[in-house]
Amino acid sequence: MLKESDRIFTNLHGTDDWRLKGAQSRGDWDKTKNLLEKGQDWIIQEVITSGLKGRGGAGFPTGKKWSFMPKEGGMMPRYLIINADESEPGTCKDRDILRYEPHKLIEGALLAAFAIGAHVGYIYIRGEFHQEAEHLEAAIAEAYDAGLLGKNAANSGWKFELYVHRGAGAYICGEETALLESLEGRKGMPRLKPPFPAVVGLYGCPTIVNNVETLAVVPTILRRGGSWFASIGTPDNTGTKIFCLSGHINKPCNVEEALGIPMKDLIEKHGGGVRGGWDNLLAVIPGGSSVPLLPKEICDTVLMDFTSLAQVKSALGTAGVIVMDKSTDVVRAIARLSKFYMHESCGQCTPCREGTGWMWRMLMRLAEGEGTSEDIDQLEGVTHEIEGHTICALGDAAAWPVQGLIRHFRPELERRLRRE
Ligand code: SF4
Repeated sequence: MLKESDRIFTNLHGTDDWRLKGAQSRGDWDKTKNLLEKGQDWIIQEVITSGLKGRGGAGFPTGKKWSFMPKEGGMMPRYLIINADESEPGTCKDRDILRYEPHKLIEGALLAAFAIGAHVGYIYIRGEFHQEAEHLEAAIAEAYDAGLLGKNAANSGWKFELYVHRGAGAYICGEETALLESLEGRKGMPRLKPPFPAVVGLYGCPTIVNNVETLAVVPTILRRGGSWFASIGTPDNTGTKIFCLSGHINKPCNVEEALGIPMKDLIEKHGGGVRGGWDNLLAVIPGGSSVPLLPKEICDTVLMDFTSLAQVKSALGTAGVIVMDKSTDVVRAIARLSKFYMHESCGQCTPCREGTGWMWRMLMRLAEGEGTSEDIDQLEGVTHEIEGHTICALGDAAAWPVQGLIRHFRPELERRLRRE
């Protein structure tokens, strides 16, 4: 269990004042100028030492990402983009940061922008997040009034302007290059990579895109030291993480815990346990809807971190933990996710545009006992035709839950074929 003294998000549930005064009383904006005076290389090195991996789903090391910014300044401006388009089903962690800890994000944005040499940052926020955008805009206004943003941010001599941009509610705009397209005023359609945004990003300029939670932990890492953060969790999975617990549990919640906590402890100690008890568990999706589900026998012992979940052919993803008890129609549940990805596909790539709908239709046939004996293998074949053959990861995100279903619940699919 995470020690109270190691908790970063002390107002995650909104029990205290989220405005500047409350944030400062919890330690935010404390001697930010001193951190900036230590220089860009020091900030990047501390974040590398911390082992922080991106909290948006892909888990790419944050310090390494920042170090990809071209060393030479050149004439081109640089941009910091904060991805607040949280739309992954089962995930609602950034939402609570935006609502109740906005100053952690704003301070983290200033520190990150300074480290990568950016004078302008945009927070791209999901269109449906009305209250969150209001809090964010109010917190940014307070920061400007207090001299923490602007021409001489935090009295450091560094100019940093921060803007909020509201999206229109498309899941695909959470993909970093689709987000950039949308921010530039076009349809949110992912770009081919390379070039990566660090080289050719917003308006063709070097750009770093980071998730909300990733940036919100940076000020505490810099104040307490990268090695402090690295001492939490396991050697390859360091630090704290906000887990979103939902589904068939007694106390759905967001909770900050150490990476590497056993899934069973997470659900029992923070989520109040599975409805009807642990033995009533059917399966868990451990990292948001795009990762393969895990059956109970794996959930009994698996640890909640990047490495352990990859070893059981799933992923930590966004740490959106969706619990399903034995009352769940698991085929229909995965079919519902397929329908979501079909709806959210931007349609650029044939395997994604056609394949997502194909998977949904086959799953519905199987769910209704109208499938044929060839359907299961054909369905699996379709997932492999999509996976790795598309411009962005939405194709993979649509294929993996179906692969997980076939891997762990094939007998259930076969039972449907026999119409038992
Ligand atoms: Fe669009 Fe899907 Fe291709 Fe991504 S994988 S670019 S969402 S069609």
